[in-house]
Amino acid sequence: MNRVLARKQLRTNVCGTTKIFRRTFSTHPVSTSGSNEKSNAKTNSIEDDSPQHDIAIVGGGMVGIALAASLASKPLTKHLNVAIIDNNPLLGRKSTIEKGHPPDPRVSTVTPATISFLKGIGAWKYIEEQRHAYFDKMQVWDYTGLGYTRYNAKDVDQDILGCVVENKVLQSSQLSCVQESDLQKTIYPARLNSMNMLPSSSLTGLGEVPSTTDLFMRGRLAKLELSDGNNVYAKLVVGADGSKSRVRELAGIKTTGWNYSQNAIICTVEHTVENFTAWQRFLPNGPIALLPIGDKFSNIVWTMDPTEASDRKSMSEDDFIKAVNDALDYGYGPHPETTGSGGSSLSWLTGDVNISAKERFETPPKVVKLSSERMMFPLSLRHAKDYVSNRVALVGDSAHTVHPLAGQGVNLGFADASALSRAIAEGIALGTDIGEANLLKRYEAERKPANIAMMAVLDGIQKMYAVNFGPLNALRAAAFHGAHYISPLKKRIISYASGEQSLPLFS
Ligand SMILES: Cc1cc2nc3c(=O)[nH]c(=O)nc-3n(C[C@H](O)[C@H](O)[C@H](O)COP(=O)(O)OP(=O)(O)OC[C@H]3O[C@@H](n4cnc5c(N)ncnc54)[C@H](O)[C@@H]3O)c2cc1C
Repeated sequence: MNRVLARKQLRTNVCGTTKIFRRTFSTHPVSTSGSNEKSNAKTNSIEDDSPQHDIAIVGGGMVGIALAASLASKPLTKHLNVAIIDNNPLLGRKSTIEKGHPPDPRVSTVTPATISFLKGIGAWKYIEEQRHAYFDKMQVWDYTGLGYTRYNAKDVDQDILGCVVENKVLQSSQLSCVQESDLQKTIYPARLNSMNMLPSSSLTGLGEVPSTTDLFMRGRLAKLELSDGNNVYAKLVVGADGSKSRVRELAGIKTTGWNYSQNAIICTVEHTVENFTAWQRFLPNGPIALLPIGDKFSNIVWTMDPTEASDRKSMSEDDFIKAVNDALDYGYGPHPETTGSGGSSLSWLTGDVNISAKERFETPPKVVKLSSERMMFPLSLRHAKDYVSNRVALVGDSAHTVHPLAGQGVNLGFADASALSRAIAEGIALGTDIGEANLLKRYEAERKPANIAMMAVLDGIQKMYAVNFGPLNALRAAAFHGAHYISPLKKRIISYASGEQSLPLFS
Protein backbone atom coordinates (compact mmCIF):
# COMPACT_ATOMS: atom_id res chain seq x y z
CA MET A 1 0.00 0.00 0.00
CA ASN A 2 2.85 2.36 0.87
CA ARG A 3 4.58 1.49 -2.36
CA VAL A 4 1.41 2.24 -4.32
CA LEU A 5 1.13 5.61 -2.60
CA ALA A 6 4.79 6.34 -3.26
CA ARG A 7 4.40 5.47 -6.96
CA LYS A 8 1.32 7.68 -7.17
CA GLN A 9 3.18 10.58 -5.60
CA LEU A 10 6.16 10.17 -7.88
CA ARG A 11 3.84 10.29 -10.88
CA THR A 12 2.26 13.50 -9.67
CA ASN A 13 5.70 15.04 -9.02
CA VAL A 14 6.83 14.41 -12.56
CA CYS A 15 3.54 15.74 -13.84
CA GLY A 16 3.90 18.86 -11.70
CA THR A 17 7.43 19.50 -12.89
CA THR A 18 6.37 19.45 -16.54
CA LYS A 19 3.54 21.89 -15.90
CA ILE A 20 5.76 24.30 -14.08
CA PHE A 21 8.31 24.31 -16.87
CA ARG A 22 5.63 25.08 -19.42
CA ARG A 23 3.96 27.76 -17.40
CA THR A 24 6.69 29.72 -15.77
CA PHE A 25 10.02 29.16 -17.44
CA SER A 26 9.62 31.10 -20.59
CA THR A 27 11.94 33.87 -19.37
CA HIS A 28 14.25 32.15 -16.88
CA PRO A 29 16.03 28.86 -17.16
CA VAL A 30 14.80 27.22 -13.99
CA SER A 31 15.33 23.65 -12.97
CA THR A 32 13.74 21.28 -10.59
CA SER A 33 15.49 18.20 -9.38
CA GLY A 34 15.44 15.53 -6.78
CA SER A 35 13.66 12.22 -6.90
CA ASN A 36 12.62 11.55 -3.35
CA GLU A 37 9.48 9.50 -3.61
CA LYS A 38 8.44 10.45 -0.11
CA SER A 39 8.16 14.12 -0.96
CA ASN A 40 4.74 15.59 -0.33
CA ALA A 41 4.97 17.73 -3.41
CA LYS A 42 2.40 17.13 -6.07
CA THR A 43 -0.01 18.81 -8.37
CA ASN A 44 -3.63 17.87 -8.20
CA SER A 45 -4.92 17.75 -11.71
CA ILE A 46 -8.63 17.33 -11.02
CA GLU A 47 -9.76 20.35 -9.05
CA ASP A 48 -6.89 22.79 -9.18
CA ASP A 49 -3.76 22.10 -11.16
CA SER A 50 -1.76 24.91 -9.56
CA PRO A 51 1.54 23.62 -8.21
CA GLN A 52 1.83 22.66 -4.58
CA HIS A 53 5.02 23.11 -2.59
CA ASP A 54 6.22 22.37 0.89
CA ILE A 55 7.62 25.88 1.24
CA ALA A 56 7.16 29.06 -0.80
CA ILE A 57 9.96 31.55 -0.19
CA VAL A 58 8.75 34.99 -1.27
CA GLY A 59 11.86 37.04 -2.04
CA GLY A 60 15.03 35.59 -3.52
CA GLY A 61 17.41 38.18 -2.06
CA MET A 62 20.44 37.20 -0.01
CA VAL A 63 18.35 35.93 2.91
CA GLY A 64 15.67 34.08 0.92
CA ILE A 65 18.32 32.19 -1.03
CA ALA A 66 20.23 31.55 2.21
CA LEU A 67 17.16 29.79 3.58
CA ALA A 68 16.83 27.64 0.44
CA ALA A 69 20.55 26.79 0.58
CA SER A 70 20.35 25.96 4.27
CA LEU A 71 17.37 23.64 3.65
CA ALA A 72 19.28 22.04 0.77
CA SER A 73 22.22 21.31 3.07
CA LYS A 74 20.33 19.34 5.74
CA PRO A 75 19.54 15.62 5.45
CA LEU A 76 15.99 16.10 6.75
CA THR A 77 15.07 19.02 4.51
CA LYS A 78 17.16 18.53 1.38
CA HIS A 79 14.36 16.82 -0.57
CA LEU A 80 11.68 19.37 0.20
CA ASN A 81 9.79 20.96 -2.64
CA VAL A 82 10.56 24.67 -2.48
CA ALA A 83 9.25 27.56 -4.56
CA ILE A 84 11.26 30.79 -4.77
CA ILE A 85 9.11 33.71 -5.90
CA ASP A 86 10.94 36.83 -7.08
CA ASN A 87 11.19 38.67 -10.39
CA ASN A 88 14.70 39.88 -9.61
CA PRO A 89 16.66 39.16 -12.84
CA LEU A 90 19.73 38.17 -10.80
CA LEU A 91 18.03 34.88 -10.02
CA GLY A 92 17.97 33.90 -13.66
CA ARG A 93 21.65 34.31 -14.43
CA LYS A 94 24.95 33.31 -12.93
CA SER A 95 26.88 36.29 -11.67
CA THR A 96 30.57 36.22 -12.41
CA ILE A 97 33.06 38.94 -11.72
CA GLU A 98 34.75 40.08 -14.87
CA LYS A 99 38.44 40.70 -14.35
CA GLY A 100 39.25 44.39 -14.35
CA HIS A 101 35.68 45.46 -13.56
CA PRO A 102 35.39 47.54 -10.39
CA PRO A 103 33.30 46.01 -7.61
CA ASP A 104 29.57 46.69 -7.39
CA PRO A 105 28.80 49.38 -4.78
CA ARG A 106 26.32 47.12 -2.96
CA VAL A 107 28.48 45.13 -0.57
CA SER A 108 28.06 43.58 2.88
CA THR A 109 30.49 43.12 5.70
CA VAL A 110 29.99 39.56 6.84
CA THR A 111 30.93 38.44 10.33
CA PRO A 112 32.90 35.31 11.29
CA ALA A 113 29.60 33.72 12.43
CA THR A 114 28.12 34.32 8.96
CA ILE A 115 31.25 32.91 7.32
CA SER A 116 30.81 29.72 9.39
CA PHE A 117 27.17 29.52 8.29
CA LEU A 118 28.11 30.04 4.63
CA LYS A 119 30.83 27.38 4.92
CA GLY A 120 28.31 25.00 6.49
CA ILE A 121 25.87 25.33 3.58
CA GLY A 122 28.70 25.02 1.04
CA ALA A 123 28.55 28.61 -0.30
CA TRP A 124 31.87 29.95 0.97
CA LYS A 125 33.93 28.00 -1.57
CA TYR A 126 32.12 29.86 -4.37
CA ILE A 127 32.68 33.20 -2.64
CA GLU A 128 36.38 32.45 -2.32
CA GLU A 129 36.53 32.00 -6.10
CA GLN A 130 35.25 35.54 -6.56
CA ARG A 131 36.20 38.95 -5.20
CA HIS A 132 36.11 39.31 -1.43
CA ALA A 133 38.29 41.08 1.13
CA TYR A 134 39.07 39.80 4.60
CA PHE A 135 40.11 42.42 7.12
CA ASP A 136 41.82 41.93 10.44
CA LYS A 137 41.90 45.54 11.69
CA MET A 138 39.35 48.22 12.28
CA GLN A 139 39.65 51.83 13.42
CA VAL A 140 36.75 53.91 14.75
CA TRP A 141 37.02 57.59 15.72
CA ASP A 142 34.98 60.78 15.60
CA TYR A 143 35.28 64.35 14.44
CA THR A 144 35.87 65.84 17.91
CA GLY A 145 39.40 64.44 18.11
CA LEU A 146 38.74 63.22 21.65
CA GLY A 147 39.57 59.59 21.10
CA TYR A 148 39.76 56.56 18.84
CA THR A 149 39.45 52.79 19.12
CA ARG A 150 41.41 50.26 17.15
CA TYR A 151 40.40 46.62 16.95
CA ASN A 152 42.68 43.79 15.89
CA ALA A 153 41.64 40.18 15.26
CA LYS A 154 44.61 39.14 17.37
CA ASP A 155 42.85 40.72 20.40
CA VAL A 156 40.58 37.66 20.34
CA ASP A 157 43.15 35.21 18.95
CA GLN A 158 41.50 35.18 15.55
CA ASP A 159 42.85 35.81 12.06
CA ILE A 160 40.06 38.04 10.81
CA LEU A 161 37.39 40.42 12.07
CA GLY A 162 35.20 40.01 8.98
CA CYS A 163 35.04 39.95 5.21
CA VAL A 164 33.56 42.38 2.69
CA VAL A 165 31.69 40.71 -0.19
CA GLU A 166 29.56 42.10 -3.01
CA ASN A 167 25.86 41.36 -2.41
CA LYS A 168 25.52 39.80 -5.86
CA VAL A 169 28.41 37.43 -5.05
CA LEU A 170 26.77 36.43 -1.76
CA GLN A 171 23.50 35.80 -3.55
CA SER A 172 24.87 33.94 -6.59
CA SER A 173 27.15 31.74 -4.46
CA GLN A 174 24.21 30.56 -2.40
CA LEU A 175 22.15 30.11 -5.53
CA SER A 176 24.87 27.82 -6.91
CA CYS A 177 24.50 25.65 -3.79
CA VAL A 178 20.73 25.48 -4.32
CA GLN A 179 21.08 24.67 -8.01
CA GLU A 180 23.55 21.87 -7.36
CA SER A 181 21.49 20.33 -4.57
CA ASP A 182 18.76 17.67 -4.44
CA LEU A 183 16.20 20.25 -3.34
CA GLN A 184 13.16 20.27 -5.64
CA LYS A 185 13.21 23.94 -6.48
CA THR A 186 11.18 26.11 -8.76
CA ILE A 187 11.88 29.76 -9.35
CA TYR A 188 8.83 31.83 -10.24
CA PRO A 189 9.92 35.08 -11.93
CA ALA A 190 6.97 37.02 -10.50
CA ARG A 191 5.89 39.00 -7.46
CA LEU A 192 3.46 38.01 -4.78
CA ASN A 193 0.18 39.87 -5.16
CA SER A 194 -2.09 38.24 -2.61
CA MET A 195 -2.23 35.37 -0.17
CA ASN A 196 -5.12 33.41 1.28
CA MET A 197 -5.42 30.79 3.96
CA LEU A 198 -8.31 29.32 5.89
CA PRO A 199 -8.57 28.19 9.52
CA SER A 200 -7.37 24.65 10.10
CA SER A 201 -9.98 21.89 10.31
CA SER A 202 -9.94 18.08 10.42
CA LEU A 203 -8.90 16.01 7.40
CA THR A 204 -11.36 13.23 8.13
CA GLY A 205 -13.47 12.16 5.22
CA LEU A 206 -10.85 13.03 2.61
CA GLY A 207 -9.32 10.35 0.40
CA GLU A 208 -5.87 8.82 0.68
CA VAL A 209 -4.30 11.62 -1.31
CA PRO A 210 -6.38 14.73 -0.63
CA SER A 211 -6.63 17.22 -3.46
CA THR A 212 -4.93 20.60 -3.32
CA THR A 213 -8.31 22.27 -3.07
CA ASP A 214 -9.33 20.01 -0.18
CA LEU A 215 -6.10 20.77 1.67
CA PHE A 216 -6.58 24.48 1.09
CA MET A 217 -10.21 24.34 2.24
CA ARG A 218 -9.12 22.54 5.44
CA GLY A 219 -6.48 25.15 6.19
CA ARG A 220 -3.46 22.93 5.42
CA LEU A 221 -2.17 25.01 2.52
CA ALA A 222 -1.79 28.72 1.82
CA LYS A 223 -2.70 29.95 -1.65
CA LEU A 224 -0.47 32.57 -3.26
CA GLU A 225 -1.53 34.65 -6.26
CA LEU A 226 1.36 35.88 -8.36
CA SER A 227 1.72 38.93 -10.57
CA ASP A 228 1.92 36.77 -13.71
CA GLY A 229 -1.50 35.27 -13.05
CA ASN A 230 -0.23 31.96 -11.68
CA ASN A 231 -1.26 30.54 -8.32
CA VAL A 232 0.87 28.36 -6.10
CA TYR A 233 0.04 26.54 -2.88
CA ALA A 234 2.39 25.90 0.03
CA LYS A 235 2.32 24.52 3.56
CA LEU A 236 4.60 27.30 4.71
CA VAL A 237 5.09 30.78 3.24
CA VAL A 238 8.35 32.51 4.16
CA GLY A 239 8.48 36.29 3.79
CA ALA A 240 12.04 37.09 2.70
CA ASP A 241 10.79 40.04 0.71
CA GLY A 242 12.65 42.87 2.37
CA SER A 243 11.74 45.85 4.50
CA LYS A 244 8.46 46.58 2.68
CA SER A 245 7.39 42.95 2.93
CA ARG A 246 4.14 42.10 1.16
CA VAL A 247 3.96 38.80 3.05
CA ARG A 248 4.12 40.67 6.36
CA GLU A 249 1.39 43.04 5.20
CA LEU A 250 -0.88 40.25 3.89
CA ALA A 251 -0.39 38.25 7.10
CA GLY A 252 -1.50 41.31 9.07
CA ILE A 253 1.74 41.46 11.08
CA LYS A 254 2.31 44.94 12.50
CA THR A 255 5.69 46.65 12.83
CA THR A 256 7.21 49.23 15.13
CA GLY A 257 9.98 51.59 14.12
CA TRP A 258 10.84 54.91 12.58
CA ASN A 259 12.66 56.49 9.69
CA TYR A 260 16.01 58.03 10.53
CA SER A 261 16.28 61.46 8.95
CA GLN A 262 19.40 60.12 7.29
CA ASN A 263 20.30 58.72 3.88
CA ALA A 264 23.31 56.58 3.04
CA ILE A 265 25.41 57.23 -0.05
CA ILE A 266 27.32 54.17 -1.22
CA CYS A 267 29.93 53.84 -3.96
CA THR A 268 33.17 52.12 -4.94
CA VAL A 269 36.39 54.14 -4.81
CA GLU A 270 39.99 53.45 -5.74
CA HIS A 271 43.30 54.11 -3.96
CA THR A 272 46.91 53.92 -5.11
CA VAL A 273 47.59 51.23 -2.50
CA GLU A 274 45.54 48.30 -1.24
CA ASN A 275 43.38 48.90 1.84
CA PHE A 276 43.33 46.13 4.48
CA THR A 277 41.50 47.92 7.31
CA ALA A 278 37.83 48.76 7.92
CA TRP A 279 37.63 52.47 8.83
CA GLN A 280 34.73 54.37 10.35
CA ARG A 281 34.60 57.98 11.44
CA PHE A 282 31.57 59.56 13.10
CA LEU A 283 30.83 63.00 11.64
CA PRO A 284 28.25 65.53 12.88
CA ASN A 285 25.57 64.23 10.44
CA GLY A 286 26.43 60.53 10.59
CA PRO A 287 29.24 58.02 10.11
CA ILE A 288 31.39 57.46 7.02
CA ALA A 289 32.86 53.99 6.51
CA LEU A 290 35.67 52.99 4.15
CA LEU A 291 35.65 49.22 3.71
CA PRO A 292 38.25 47.17 1.80
CA ILE A 293 36.83 45.23 -1.16
CA GLY A 294 39.96 43.84 -2.76
CA ASP A 295 42.69 45.03 -5.15
CA LYS A 296 42.99 48.79 -4.71
CA PHE A 297 39.25 49.28 -4.23
CA SER A 298 37.23 50.27 -1.18
CA ASN A 299 33.53 50.73 -0.58
CA ILE A 300 32.13 53.93 0.93
CA VAL A 301 29.01 53.96 3.11
CA TRP A 302 28.42 57.58 4.08
CA THR A 303 25.39 58.48 6.20
CA MET A 304 24.13 62.08 6.33
CA ASP A 305 20.97 64.14 6.30
CA PRO A 306 18.86 63.82 3.14
CA THR A 307 19.66 67.30 1.76
CA GLU A 308 23.38 66.84 2.17
CA ALA A 309 23.05 63.36 0.62
CA SER A 310 21.35 64.77 -2.50
CA ASP A 311 24.09 67.37 -2.82
CA ARG A 312 26.88 64.83 -2.39
CA LYS A 313 25.24 62.48 -4.88
CA SER A 314 25.04 65.13 -7.58
CA MET A 315 28.30 67.05 -7.00
CA SER A 316 31.16 66.62 -9.48
CA GLU A 317 33.37 63.56 -9.15
CA ASP A 318 36.39 65.67 -8.16
CA ASP A 319 34.44 67.51 -5.46
CA PHE A 320 33.07 64.23 -4.13
CA ILE A 321 36.54 62.67 -3.86
CA LYS A 322 37.80 65.78 -2.06
CA ALA A 323 34.81 65.64 0.32
CA VAL A 324 35.48 61.94 1.07
CA ASN A 325 39.18 62.55 1.73
CA ASP A 326 38.30 65.47 4.00
CA ALA A 327 35.73 63.44 5.88
CA LEU A 328 38.30 60.70 6.55
CA ASP A 329 41.06 63.10 7.57
CA TYR A 330 41.06 66.66 8.98
CA GLY A 331 37.59 67.74 7.78
CA TYR A 332 35.16 68.65 10.64
CA GLY A 333 37.86 68.46 13.37
CA PRO A 334 41.33 67.34 14.44
CA HIS A 335 42.83 63.86 14.55
CA PRO A 336 42.61 62.26 17.96
CA GLU A 337 45.73 62.45 20.00
CA THR A 338 47.78 59.32 19.44
CA THR A 339 48.53 57.59 22.70
CA GLY A 340 49.46 54.20 21.33
CA SER A 341 51.83 53.38 24.17
CA GLY A 342 49.79 50.70 25.82
CA GLY A 343 50.36 52.50 29.08
CA SER A 344 47.03 54.31 29.32
CA SER A 345 45.69 55.54 32.60
CA LEU A 346 42.85 53.02 32.08
CA SER A 347 45.05 49.94 31.80
CA TRP A 348 44.95 49.48 35.59
CA LEU A 349 41.36 48.35 35.12
CA THR A 350 42.41 45.20 33.36
CA GLY A 351 45.94 44.25 34.18
CA ASP A 352 46.24 42.93 30.65
CA VAL A 353 46.43 45.14 27.60
CA ASN A 354 45.26 43.86 24.24
CA ILE A 355 47.38 44.08 21.11
CA SER A 356 45.41 46.87 19.46
CA ALA A 357 45.65 49.14 22.53
CA LYS A 358 49.28 49.66 21.51
CA GLU A 359 48.33 50.64 17.97
CA ARG A 360 48.60 54.28 17.01
CA PHE A 361 45.88 56.27 15.26
CA GLU A 362 46.28 55.99 11.48
CA THR A 363 44.94 58.03 8.59
CA PRO A 364 43.06 55.95 5.97
CA PRO A 365 44.52 55.65 2.46
CA LYS A 366 43.55 58.53 0.18
CA VAL A 367 40.84 58.05 -2.42
CA VAL A 368 42.02 58.90 -5.92
CA LYS A 369 39.09 57.82 -8.08
CA LEU A 370 35.35 57.25 -7.97
CA SER A 371 34.84 53.84 -9.59
CA SER A 372 31.06 53.40 -9.59
CA GLU A 373 27.85 55.35 -9.58
CA ARG A 374 26.79 56.86 -6.24
CA MET A 375 23.66 55.19 -4.88
CA MET A 376 21.44 56.64 -2.16
CA PHE A 377 19.31 54.72 0.41
CA PRO A 378 16.91 56.15 3.01
CA LEU A 379 17.54 54.57 6.42
CA SER A 380 15.02 53.24 8.90
CA LEU A 381 14.57 50.99 11.87
CA ARG A 382 11.65 48.58 11.64
CA HIS A 383 10.76 45.52 13.64
CA ALA A 384 7.89 43.08 13.11
CA LYS A 385 5.84 42.52 16.25
CA ASP A 386 5.59 38.83 15.35
CA TYR A 387 7.98 36.82 13.17
CA VAL A 388 5.47 34.01 12.63
CA SER A 389 1.78 33.32 12.29
CA ASN A 390 -0.11 30.33 11.00
CA ARG A 391 1.73 29.11 7.81
CA VAL A 392 3.87 32.25 7.71
CA ALA A 393 7.39 33.07 8.90
CA LEU A 394 9.40 36.25 8.28
CA VAL A 395 13.18 36.31 7.85
CA GLY A 396 15.75 39.04 7.16
CA ASP A 397 14.69 42.61 6.49
CA SER A 398 11.03 41.66 6.38
CA ALA A 399 11.32 40.93 10.12
CA HIS A 400 13.84 43.64 11.05
CA THR A 401 15.57 46.52 9.30
CA VAL A 402 18.51 48.14 11.07
CA HIS A 403 20.85 51.10 10.60
CA PRO A 404 23.85 50.02 8.49
CA LEU A 405 26.40 51.69 10.77
CA ALA A 406 27.78 48.40 12.07
CA GLY A 407 27.11 46.30 8.97
CA GLN A 408 24.88 43.83 10.81
CA GLY A 409 21.61 43.73 8.76
CA VAL A 410 22.18 40.77 6.49
CA ASN A 411 24.18 38.96 9.18
CA LEU A 412 21.05 38.95 11.33
CA GLY A 413 19.11 37.72 8.30
CA PHE A 414 21.50 34.81 7.73
CA ALA A 415 21.13 33.84 11.38
CA ASP A 416 17.33 33.88 10.87
CA ALA A 417 17.64 31.62 7.81
CA SER A 418 19.81 29.21 9.75
CA ALA A 419 17.43 29.10 12.73
CA LEU A 420 14.30 28.70 10.60
CA SER A 421 15.78 25.84 8.59
CA ARG A 422 16.68 24.10 11.88
CA ALA A 423 13.12 24.54 13.19
CA ILE A 424 11.72 23.09 9.95
CA ALA A 425 14.09 20.12 10.21
CA GLU A 426 12.95 19.54 13.80
CA GLY A 427 9.32 19.64 12.65
CA ILE A 428 10.02 17.05 9.96
CA ALA A 429 11.84 14.83 12.46
CA LEU A 430 8.78 14.97 14.72
CA GLY A 431 6.31 14.49 11.87
CA THR A 432 4.72 17.89 12.52
CA ASP A 433 3.03 20.08 9.90
CA ILE A 434 5.82 22.57 9.01
CA GLY A 435 3.31 25.41 8.68
CA GLU A 436 2.02 25.12 12.25
CA ALA A 437 2.48 28.25 14.30
CA ASN A 438 3.58 26.25 17.37
CA LEU A 439 6.57 24.86 15.49
CA LEU A 440 7.40 28.21 13.92
CA LYS A 441 7.35 29.86 17.33
CA ARG A 442 10.55 27.97 18.19
CA TYR A 443 12.25 29.93 15.44
CA GLU A 444 10.79 33.20 16.73
CA ALA A 445 11.84 32.42 20.30
CA GLU A 446 15.43 31.93 19.16
CA ARG A 447 15.80 34.94 16.90
CA LYS A 448 13.64 37.72 18.33
CA PRO A 449 15.65 38.42 21.52
CA ALA A 450 18.95 38.36 19.61
CA ASN A 451 17.66 40.71 16.91
CA ILE A 452 16.09 43.11 19.43
CA ALA A 453 19.33 43.26 21.42
CA MET A 454 21.34 44.11 18.31
CA MET A 455 18.76 46.69 17.17
CA ALA A 456 18.94 48.40 20.57
CA VAL A 457 22.73 48.55 20.45
CA LEU A 458 22.77 49.97 16.91
CA ASP A 459 20.04 52.50 17.61
CA GLY A 460 21.85 53.57 20.80
CA ILE A 461 25.08 54.14 18.87
CA GLN A 462 23.21 56.05 16.16
CA LYS A 463 21.62 58.35 18.77
CA MET A 464 24.79 58.80 20.79
CA TYR A 465 26.65 60.03 17.72
CA ALA A 466 23.77 62.07 16.30
CA VAL A 467 24.13 64.82 18.93
CA ASN A 468 26.86 67.40 19.35
CA PHE A 469 26.58 68.29 23.03
CA GLY A 470 29.48 68.88 25.46
CA PRO A 471 28.77 66.24 28.14
CA LEU A 472 27.79 63.67 25.53
CA ASN A 473 31.01 64.34 23.63
CA ALA A 474 32.92 63.57 26.84
CA LEU A 475 30.94 60.36 27.23
CA ARG A 476 31.78 59.38 23.67
CA ALA A 477 35.44 60.06 24.35
CA ALA A 478 35.23 57.87 27.45
CA ALA A 479 33.59 55.15 25.34
CA PHE A 480 36.41 55.33 22.78
CA HIS A 481 39.04 55.12 25.53
CA GLY A 482 37.21 52.34 27.35
CA ALA A 483 36.79 50.27 24.20
CA HIS A 484 40.39 50.97 23.18
CA TYR A 485 42.06 50.05 26.45
CA ILE A 486 39.84 47.83 28.56
CA SER A 487 40.74 44.40 27.32
CA PRO A 488 37.69 42.35 28.47
CA LEU A 489 35.32 45.02 27.15
CA LYS A 490 37.10 45.09 23.80
CA LYS A 491 36.98 41.29 23.57
CA ARG A 492 33.25 41.32 24.28
CA ILE A 493 32.59 44.02 21.69
CA ILE A 494 34.52 42.06 19.05
CA SER A 495 32.82 38.80 19.86
CA TYR A 496 29.37 40.44 19.87
CA ALA A 497 30.00 42.20 16.55
CA SER A 498 31.37 38.91 15.14
CA GLY A 499 28.03 37.25 15.82
CA GLU A 500 29.66 34.78 18.19
CA GLN A 501 28.16 36.04 21.42
CA SER A 502 24.43 36.39 21.17
CA LEU A 503 23.49 38.59 24.09
CA PRO A 504 24.55 41.70 25.92
CA LEU A 505 28.03 42.98 26.16
CA PHE A 506 27.92 43.26 29.91
CA SER A 507 26.56 39.90 31.04
C1 LIG B 1 23.61 51.35 2.67
C2 LIG B 1 23.46 49.99 3.27
C3 LIG B 1 24.59 49.27 3.63
C4 LIG B 1 24.47 48.00 4.23
N1 LIG B 1 25.60 47.32 4.59
C5 LIG B 1 25.48 46.13 5.23
C6 LIG B 1 26.63 45.41 5.68
O1 LIG B 1 27.77 45.84 5.49
N2 LIG B 1 26.45 44.24 6.34
C7 LIG B 1 25.20 43.75 6.59
O2 LIG B 1 25.08 42.71 7.24
N3 LIG B 1 24.09 44.38 6.14
C8 LIG B 1 24.19 45.55 5.48
N4 LIG B 1 23.08 46.21 5.04
C9 LIG B 1 21.75 45.58 5.22
C10 LIG B 1 21.49 44.53 4.14
O3 LIG B 1 21.67 45.10 2.85
C11 LIG B 1 20.07 44.00 4.29
O4 LIG B 1 19.91 43.54 5.61
C12 LIG B 1 19.83 42.85 3.30
O5 LIG B 1 19.86 43.30 1.98
C13 LIG B 1 18.48 42.20 3.58
O6 LIG B 1 18.35 41.10 2.73
P1 LIG B 1 16.93 40.44 2.48
O7 LIG B 1 17.17 39.29 1.55
O8 LIG B 1 16.25 40.22 3.77
O9 LIG B 1 16.07 41.58 1.75
P2 LIG B 1 16.32 42.30 0.37
O10 LIG B 1 17.76 42.39 0.05
O11 LIG B 1 15.54 43.56 0.42
O12 LIG B 1 15.68 41.30 -0.70
C14 LIG B 1 14.28 41.18 -0.81
C15 LIG B 1 13.94 40.45 -2.10
O13 LIG B 1 12.52 40.29 -2.13
C16 LIG B 1 12.02 40.60 -3.42
N5 LIG B 1 10.63 41.05 -3.26
C17 LIG B 1 10.17 42.17 -2.67
N6 LIG B 1 8.83 42.21 -2.71
C18 LIG B 1 8.43 41.07 -3.34
C19 LIG B 1 7.15 40.52 -3.70
N7 LIG B 1 5.99 41.16 -3.43
N8 LIG B 1 7.12 39.34 -4.34
C20 LIG B 1 8.28 38.66 -4.62
N9 LIG B 1 9.50 39.13 -4.30
C21 LIG B 1 9.57 40.32 -3.68
C22 LIG B 1 12.97 41.67 -3.96
O14 LIG B 1 12.99 41.66 -5.38
C23 LIG B 1 14.31 41.24 -3.36
O15 LIG B 1 15.04 40.39 -4.23
C24 LIG B 1 23.18 47.46 4.45
C25 LIG B 1 22.04 48.17 4.05
C26 LIG B 1 22.18 49.43 3.47
C27 LIG B 1 20.94 50.19 3.07
